[in-house]
Amino acid sequence: MDRVLFDAARCKGCGLCVSACPEGALAQREEANRMGYHPAYLAEPAKCVSCGLCAVICPDLVIRVYRPVAAAVPAR
Ligand code: SF4
Ligand code: SF4
Repeated sequence: MDRVLFDAARCKGCGLCVSACPEGALAQREEANRMGYHPAYLAEPAKCVSCGLCAVICPDLVIRVYRPVAAAVPAR
């Protein structure tokens, strides 16, 4: 699963998240959503560090960020 999920149908294509991402992991799609905007997406998943900046800056709460959970250490 990607670390960043978008509700693309609600994205207004403002590009704030794309500009805010310090890793350059986001971009906007060529194709428009049903509102006629070009929604943002995680173009380069390997670059994402789950910092959460994109979700914080999005004015429409379109983005959810997940952080990987460390594997459990077996008890001795
Ligand atoms: S969580 Fe951070 S690194 Fe990942 S896409 Fe969002 S701003 Fe970029
Ligand atoms: S900040 Fe939000 S509304 Fe703007 S492009 Fe990114 S996901 Fe879409």
